[in-house]
Amino acid sequence: MNGITLALSKGRIFTETLPLLAAAGIVPTDDPETSRKLILATNRPDVRLVIVRASDTPTYVQHGAADLGIAGKDVLLEHGGTGLYQPLDLKIARCRMCVAVPDGFDYETAVRRGARLRVATKYIRTAREHFAVKGVHVDLIKLYGSMELAPLVGLADAIVDLVSTGGTLKANRLVAVEDIMPISSRLVVNQAALKMKREVLQPILDAFAGAVA
Ligand code: ATP
Ligand code: MG
Repeated sequence: MNGITLALSKGRIFTETLPLLAAAGIVPTDDPETSRKLILATNRPDVRLVIVRASDTPTYVQHGAADLGIAGKDVLLEHGGTGLYQPLDLKIARCRMCVAVPDGFDYETAVRRGARLRVATKYIRTAREHFAVKGVHVDLIKLYGSMELAPLVGLADAIVDLVSTGGTLKANRLVAVEDIMPISSRLVVNQAALKMKREVLQPILDAFAGAVA
């Protein structure tokens, strides 16, 4: 295809990307929240959007099925970034990656005593790195969602998850005990597409950069 394909997930990333697209003169002609279409046309005949699972965005861009994508830093760290050029922090979908435990669990003491902790998370790679640097022994348990449940039913001592308002933690009597890193969404570009389609891509990248600044 000669045009440009942009991969993104519906929900907060789609919503928060709309103003950036508008700055680049791109307006989707369908709403992914109501349409079941996975390929969305835009006002520009040479630009289309594909709606993918958030954690799949880097994969589509890596393989060139999409030229561009928008993905959280959380997702990019787990993917590893192979084949992706990451020119821009879009500063959208901001939150923090945290360690959280049940209210009342003395995490600091457990860590100080060298206890082996069971940690449930979707973010195995980031969690492994975090605890390795701290010298904490962990058994990581891979989950695909609803991490907050794991400590409540005895599956894990702690979770590594994204926190924005803290509402979900609070509702489940969990507390964040450690900040791992701030998270926001990044623009990713297929490295080959950047070379082959530079004339079309560069103005879009520039418009995004201008809208972020
Ligand atoms: P799914 O909900 O389909 O399981 P997901 O949880 O990865 O997938 P979203 O919840 O839409 O998808 O999250 C997409 C991205 O938005 C995440 O990868 C992360 O970067 C960011 N994000 C996740 N949770 C929050 C949050 N509470 N506040 C702000 N940004 C968040
Ligand atoms: Mg989610």
